[in-house]
Amino acid sequence: MIQATNISKSFGGIRAVRDVSLSCEQGTITGLVGPNGSGKSTLVNVLTKMLSKDSGRIKIDGGFGRTFQDVRVWEHMTVLENVLLMTQAHGLFASLVEFHADDTKARTIIVRVGLEGYMDVHAKHLSYGQRKLLEIARALATGAPNLFFDEPFAGLFPEMIERVKKIIKEEKDRKASIILIEHDMSVIRELCDRIVVLDAGKIIAEGDVLETLRDPKVVEAYLGE
Ligand code: ADP
Ligand code: MG
Repeated sequence: MIQATNISKSFGGIRAVRDVSLSCEQGTITGLVGPNGSGKSTLVNVLTKMLSKDSGRIKIDGGFGRTFQDVRVWEHMTVLENVLLMTQAHGLFASLVEFHADDTKARTIIVRVGLEGYMDVHAKHLSYGQRKLLEIARALATGAPNLFFDEPFAGLFPEMIERVKKIIKEEKDRKASIILIEHDMSVIRELCDRIVVLDAGKIIAEGDVLETLRDPKVVEAYLGE
């Protein structure tokens, strides 16, 4: 369960997020949409404590996993090590031997995102799309009940898009609360239970996906794109 109330965040004179409240129930996917620069990534970065908030309240029960719009993985570690670090993030491992001792869970997740052929490859040698898949694997590896995906499909080949859609649906089925930033409205329609539309940092519409996308305010916000 993710709950945010009256969140605001400015960068100097830019009011990137203005008094935004949103919640996401367990087992649901909330789409976060809006034109470029409307504050989607800033909102997610504030919710996940990557950025400090200026004001507002945030309640996220039980931790979270996330991906970044500008992919962030450990370049000098292998695919397996990248994921292992997340599965064991809360435990203290005494040695590298122990670190590698139980990698079953990490390996299973790597297979799930389709990187099984790259277990021992350093992340810096992966393509952009493969790094995005690795980042998704890292988010899944947290096992957290809340997930944030910031444009996870951007730059992926079509078959990988289908794979990631399936993964996100499976996470919903295991009752995760999911916030998904995505530009492709056909993907939003397929995956999301509801949407929140931002424009210039403010919520201009929210609710049922199809109804909200037909809202004249939303159509107008996208006309300048
Ligand atoms: P979106 O993800 O919807 O495209 P962002 O959250 O990235 O939008 O950006 C919202 C606004 O905040 C934009 O005007 C952007 O230029 C500005 N912004 C985002 N991050 C920073 C930053 N670190 N410093 C200054 N301005 C920023
Ligand atoms: Mg963004």
